[in-house]
Amino acid sequence: MQNLTIVMYHYVRPLAESRYPALKALELDSFRNQLAYIDRNYNVIDMEQLIAAVGPDEEPLPERPLLLTFDDGYRDHFQHVLPLLRARSWQGSFFPPACSVVDRRVLDVNKLHFVLASVVDPEVLVKYVYDAMDEVRDDYGLETNEAMFARLSSDSRYDDPCTTFVKRALQRELPEAFRMNLVDKLFSRYVSSDEQDFAGDLYMAEQQLTELLDAGMFIGSHGCQHYWLNSLDRQAQIEEVDNSLVFLEDLGVSRKDWVMCYPYGGYDESLLGILRSRGCAVGLTTEVRLADLDSCDPLTLPRLDTNDLPSAPAPPE
Ligand SMILES: [Zn+2]
Repeated sequence: MQNLTIVMYHYVRPLAESRYPALKALELDSFRNQLAYIDRNYNVIDMEQLIAAVGPDEEPLPERPLLLTFDDGYRDHFQHVLPLLRARSWQGSFFPPACSVVDRRVLDVNKLHFVLASVVDPEVLVKYVYDAMDEVRDDYGLETNEAMFARLSSDSRYDDPCTTFVKRALQRELPEAFRMNLVDKLFSRYVSSDEQDFAGDLYMAEQQLTELLDAGMFIGSHGCQHYWLNSLDRQAQIEEVDNSLVFLEDLGVSRKDWVMCYPYGGYDESLLGILRSRGCAVGLTTEVRLADLDSCDPLTLPRLDTNDLPSAPAPPE
């Protein structure tokens, strides 16, 4: 059995001294500690090694292999992650959604993160969502506020019940047009009224992605609009995939043996068929476990979250 550890990162920044210290991000010092931990316990592999391992030749991987992945194309990755990876001569794999790079739009999910980081008491946001739901309850046939809270607020790995409710209600539960409008309103009220400017600070630009490639890093697809791809019909799935490939090609990424990282981990059989027909070599989900390369489908490899690995300083020898 060949087990591979794939680690997933999102925001990595000097959090305590940043403008949004309450953001759910990995503190830069913790990231440094985690890299040291990985160095002591694993062998970091390149994406090209993984592609060769799951390909027809089944090239062997080193002992205790580990792959580093970074989702969403944050400027954090260029500014803070790249120098640390270069210093260790390690490759990271980066997955920017095309719309945030090209259109300078802030993803809904990111808007919500910064709203939550800006509003100290999440009950304020629950109240805001309740009030908005009250206004459209009959139009959309919504259940009562209390019933929805009870249904959505439990079983989160990381968040309190109020935050969990707000995230789930605004990320996928409420009708799409309604919740997107609500997120926009919250974002301009509590975070920034200039989305383009904010996106410029939050995400890498094409120039920085090119520099990542020049530094030997790997870049793969994370879709265009960062949709739940399993919620789209087949034609929309095809457009998301193909447009993201055009975006990657413009950056200089090869169309041969490309890699898909599913936004929110969402995929279905229809999507997998599209990916196979376009020569996708590896697909990354958000299922939390080690990848057993002998039994896993290479298009649905699980990953660990950074929180699953120790990030404290090493104990003294
Ligand atoms: Zn993402």
